[in-house]
Amino acid sequence: MSETQIVWLRRDLRMADNPALFAAASQGPVVCVYVLDDDAAGHHAYGGASRWWLHHSLESLSNSLGKRNAKLILRRGDAVEELCKVAEEVGAKTVHANRHYEPWWRKAQGKLSDKLDLQLYDGIYLYPAGHITTGSGSQYKIYTPFYKAMRQQFPPRDVVPEPDTLSSPETWPASDNLADWELLPTRPDWSGGLADFWQVGEEAAHQRLSEWEEDVSDYEDRRNLPSQDGSSRLSPSLHFGEIGPVQIWDALKHKRSDGWQSYESELVWRDYAANVICQFPAYARENYREDYDQLKWRDPDTDEKAARDLKKWQEGKTGYPIVDAGMRQLYQTGWMHNRVRMITASFLIKHLLIDWRKGEEWFWDCLCDADYGSNSVNWQWNAGTGVDSNMFVRIMAPLTQSEKFDAASYIREYVPELADLDAPYIHDPEEHGCLPKAYPPKMIAHKAGRERAMDAYKAMKDG
Ligand code: FAD
Repeated sequence: MSETQIVWLRRDLRMADNPALFAAASQGPVVCVYVLDDDAAGHHAYGGASRWWLHHSLESLSNSLGKRNAKLILRRGDAVEELCKVAEEVGAKTVHANRHYEPWWRKAQGKLSDKLDLQLYDGIYLYPAGHITTGSGSQYKIYTPFYKAMRQQFPPRDVVPEPDTLSSPETWPASDNLADWELLPTRPDWSGGLADFWQVGEEAAHQRLSEWEEDVSDYEDRRNLPSQDGSSRLSPSLHFGEIGPVQIWDALKHKRSDGWQSYESELVWRDYAANVICQFPAYARENYREDYDQLKWRDPDTDEKAARDLKKWQEGKTGYPIVDAGMRQLYQTGWMHNRVRMITASFLIKHLLIDWRKGEEWFWDCLCDADYGSNSVNWQWNAGTGVDSNMFVRIMAPLTQSEKFDAASYIREYVPELADLDAPYIHDPEEHGCLPKAYPPKMIAHKAGRERAMDAYKAMKDG
């Protein structure tokens, strides 16, 4: 019998288009292993919403493997140590894995390759990070030239099929019981809203993609309208690798339209984010532009008023309906519309003058699609601190944004206190003199928030 092959799964929880699984299956009996290694990720160990998703995603993959007489082995602890133990138990020397770019995974990949034969494959992005380079061979830092250069290289690689056969080892190594990992919330169980909003797993991701094929042509017109279901909502499935971007690209490539073009460019943002964290591994913790280290943020750790303001933002009680709807959508469903992510991020950073890292942390805990690269790249983009970013002085006006992008029914859905109000009153009930008793007045006036942010910015520039 040929030697047993280990497949190390992380954010690639799928059977099809999984180059590591496919290669392993062609070489011998396969043992798929998922290690929950919270210590490796440290500050970026999965937050509550992601843990909920992970539980269901592992359950789904385990069922798919079970139908093929295979098993998903679950271990908890140091990923490298656990993989070495499994290898010893089954007499394997080779581990197959899709290449990941989070700094902790790069470190683990390095350590593991010193101990076992680690075969790495490119499976979770359109192209491997670092592959798209300038004419002189250096890495892109700015999105637009990165996107243009990637388009020159399209199409991406072919989709890899699901393996025809998965043969079993003579004996299976021990596995943890998924329920014992306690990834699901219990006291209290706050996950009802997530369960109502999402279907988790590879099959559900493909179902969503086939629905999305019908709608993608309208993407350009609808993507910015939070009241409409105008984006694919594939981000958590993409994050956990229940579906890969190459599969999406392949399924939609015949849908040539402005909508598809614009959707393709968003998929490229995901690759771009991986490209950024590969160049700047500490991107989620450090300003790329060092001058912002001198910006005098209001610090919730030392300033009680700032701490209360942060809490109001987290709970969706700012008095700005569009901001509150977004923050409550996030808490209830584990997801927020992209336009509203930008509005709520800008509000925290500029109107409340609170460091973007506090927002990054909250999103990390609450998003089902929380992703080290995409979250930090977007927070730094909004803060103006990033390698490619909006300018700090471009301060979004939440009330204008709410009207412009027709957020009335979105607000009615997530802020029930305002459910009886029509547009235009619902965008700014205080200004229109129809503020319901149950809803708070604005925590800071737009003009005052803007001026405070501009003053802090000028003080930083003046040194
Ligand atoms: P669609 O509009 O259908 O886009 C398709 C896919 O492209 C998405 O699923 C996603 O994988 C990718 N994508 C789209 N926009 C972006 C973008 N700006 N950056 C990177 N990838 C993108 N996205 C995450 O996946 N994880 C995060 O942790 C995350 N944090 C964010 C934080 C802030 C402050 C902001 C402003 C944006 C963040 N985004 C993040 C990007 C974006 O909001 C989500 O990817 C998108 O809303 C997901 O919904 P969708 O699947 O319907 O996206």
